[in-house]
Amino acid sequence: MQTRRMSNTTREVADFLQGLDKAAVTTHVGADGDAIGSASALVRLAQALGAEARFCHAEEVPDYLRWLLPDEPLRECPPGYDLLVVDTSRADRAGVAHEGVHPVRLNLDHHEDNPFYGEFNLVDQKAAASAQIVAALYAELGVPLSKEAAEAIYAGISTDTGSFRFRNVSPEAHELVADLLRAGVVPAEVSNRINRTGTVEQLNIVGVSMAKAERYGEALISTVNDDDYERTGATELDSKESIDRLRSVAGVEVVGHLRQIEGGTKASLRSESVDVGAIARAFGGGGHRLAAGYTTPKAPQEAKEELLAVLEGVVGLGGGGGGDPDGRVG
Ligand code: AMP
Ligand code: MN
Ligand code: MN
Repeated sequence: MQTRRMSNTTREVADFLQGLDKAAVTTHVGADGDAIGSASALVRLAQALGAEARFCHAEEVPDYLRWLLPDEPLRECPPGYDLLVVDTSRADRAGVAHEGVHPVRLNLDHHEDNPFYGEFNLVDQKAAASAQIVAALYAELGVPLSKEAAEAIYAGISTDTGSFRFRNVSPEAHELVADLLRAGVVPAEVSNRINRTGTVEQLNIVGVSMAKAERYGEALISTVNDDDYERTGATELDSKESIDRLRSVAGVEVVGHLRQIEGGTKASLRSESVDVGAIARAFGGGGHRLAAGYTTPKAPQEAKEELLAVLEGVVGLGGGGGGDPDGRVG
């Protein structure tokens, strides 16, 4: 695979898109709001430029995001289509099989650890969301934002910024959002369609995650396992949003949510100050500096021990197991 170290310019990628005939857009496994939002906006852009464009993903798209897509997703990249990958830090995290069959023609992303795996790479680590980069392509090409495209971009930005609370928020992101509102986005409607579609099982598993949070000095870790899923009727995916609810404790520098999955544990890490992307990479995962994740074959309890051993050298762990912080904070 051809790789390059520098991002292409928006103009170069705009020219590339104009030459497309058939485009298959995919995004990372375990798709989130920015994954589907940026993919949807790019599919619509390619269509507006006259290409035949489809969204492709082997996994089911969750209902709360499905409405953002123009068409029913295809489960694989069809032959003869150029593969465009959005919001995906590494080629092996893409949502469709492509190795050796469909070279990645465009890699559009905002992850700091993106190794420029595409033929064209539009990687802007300062963008609040990949959707913001897609919006720059609309502007470069002079393609007006339909209400649907604007909603998709808004969904990407609002979810990746935790509703405009995280450190990736910028004046540029807010200026873009103003344009999205002018294009017809009603934030309350998008927010309702994304956030008010939960189930009581989800609510219960998030509650369990919060109840099981344990503090280790400057770290806070919660684990949920198969027993918890059974007793709440929830799935492991239902517990995904717990991570954002665990961030309210004063003096905590690193928050971890470890959920049991088939064959091991999925870890989500968040911080305000510590490079948790580097920690995730040490476990074979990745992500952003302040929001990252990995999977390990260990069961949740062992995964917690393993994580604590790494955190030991990074933050103060205090006295351990739900105890008081060691006086370094406050
Ligand atoms: P999550 O905790 O799953 O919400 O993920 C936070 C960030 O880390 C996202 O940008 C993900 O793309 C990235 N990430 C999560 N899990 C992995 C993994 N196993 N490998 C690489 N990146 C990951
Ligand atoms: Mn994403
Ligand atoms: Mn993103």
